[in-house]
Amino acid sequence: MINTVFTWLTDSALRFPDKIAVVDENGSITYNQYFTKALSIARRIIEMSGGIAKKPIVVYMEKSKEILVSFMGIAYSGCFYSPIDVDMPKVRVEKILEILDPQFVITTEELKPIFEKFGYSGHYILYNDVYPAGDDLSIVKKIADSIIDTDLLYVLFTSGSTGLPKGVSICHRSVIDYIDCVCEMLNISNQDTFGNQAPFYFDNSILDIYSCMKTGATLYIVPQKLFFQPVPLLEFIRDNLINTIFWVPSALIVVSKLKAFKNVDLNNILKRVLFCGEVMPNKQLNIWRKYLPNAIYVNFYGPTEITDACTYYLVDREFGDDEPLPIGIPMKNTDVMVLNDEDKLVKQGEIGELCVRGTSLAMGYYNNPKMTEMAFVQNPLNDALPEKIYRTGDLVKYNEYGEILFLSRKDFQIKHLGHRIELGEIETAASSLNDVNSCCCLYDEENKKIVLFIDANLDEDFIKEQLKAIIPEYMLPGKLVYLNDIPINANGKIDRIKLKELI
Ligand code: AMP
Repeated sequence: MINTVFTWLTDSALRFPDKIAVVDENGSITYNQYFTKALSIARRIIEMSGGIAKKPIVVYMEKSKEILVSFMGIAYSGCFYSPIDVDMPKVRVEKILEILDPQFVITTEELKPIFEKFGYSGHYILYNDVYPAGDDLSIVKKIADSIIDTDLLYVLFTSGSTGLPKGVSICHRSVIDYIDCVCEMLNISNQDTFGNQAPFYFDNSILDIYSCMKTGATLYIVPQKLFFQPVPLLEFIRDNLINTIFWVPSALIVVSKLKAFKNVDLNNILKRVLFCGEVMPNKQLNIWRKYLPNAIYVNFYGPTEITDACTYYLVDREFGDDEPLPIGIPMKNTDVMVLNDEDKLVKQGEIGELCVRGTSLAMGYYNNPKMTEMAFVQNPLNDALPEKIYRTGDLVKYNEYGEILFLSRKDFQIKHLGHRIELGEIETAASSLNDVNSCCCLYDEENKKIVLFIDANLDEDFIKEQLKAIIPEYMLPGKLVYLNDIPINANGKIDRIKLKELI
């Protein structure tokens, strides 16, 4: 049994030193190069920190193989990584830096001046300046050997309803448990080639990164621009013999909507179509299934807080276009409990909240005890011992096959084009603008649009421009509705039902 994820990289570098590990638009690295550069980074971190491990280190780089090498360098040094998207607005980065207080930032020469504008006064490590570590790696080995499986591996930030992003903190053990389960279930081996879509600040990427690392498979980072060009995207898969993809449904839908399969034959190439992160409509999945009948399809479900996925459904029967696709059954070594309003297990057909128990649970939200306490709570079915469960906020029920069906959210969290967004975060940002009296945000599911109802005497372009500096581009409202007075219900709260009628 291993207790750190970097053991996979050490092993794969020994077993497959010259095999291509990661490929991006600028080239590729072998497993030996991956390992060697990661150790060099680890050594640099240890030298600079005097061997102080267990600290957060930010990685601020364009999506590339170098990010993954940096992640592993950080892990070998006994610290944990937190990627920050280069497109993230300044205000949000500042909030994240305040929460994290990172020990170092790993970045490039070009991006350093941009990061400096975020007011970070700590030390930088420039990726290209890290010299080869040489043969004496005893200090790295000493630190790496001291890491235990409950030490943190990464902190990924998700949207927070109060406007403060939440740093989901995951330890080595949770990732080991998850990846062991995925690789066994899907029979992943060094013969496989993955096509990565998920950004590395999004937890879907965990499956790609670590399934490959564990087995010696090859990971292609699919160029982002291809996700807007379905035919070249499928050509990319075909030409690089990619046989496994794990994408958000939004990315799969881009392909099926335009029926790009008519132009590119992927039969006998793509054998695993995996997805997670939002509802996959059967209407679109049926198009994939029609053109690629020999592939296996798996609907994974789960929030970042339980290490990517906690249930899965291996598609094993036909579905009508308007039927829901189950999110299935718990993954190995994970228990899910569907609790009703009285915190009792639901009966078949009854709706309840999906709650998760097990090794996959995050250690909490970094430096945020209040939110941690709210989301990670005592198991109400265990009054004998302390035991945490994670309340997902997702409403579900069991179908007649004993599979779980996702129904909706309990709160104002949405999924928009694969991104997890708390509508409250947008409201907080809009309310912070001068001359905004009040506002409310709703999601128009049908047209996939974020709608901002706003009581303000400000021009639409001006509002959007101002918001751009506070929240990421994908959170910007697609539609603004001006109201003189936002309607209030009998409880004195914003009347969302009335507002919904105005969409
Ligand atoms: P994230 O933390 O970004 O992975 O988002 C987690 C949330 O996305 C879950 O709590 C669900 O609301 C939603 N979600 C994830 N996977 C699925 C799925 N397969 N079907 C429906 N909703 C999903």
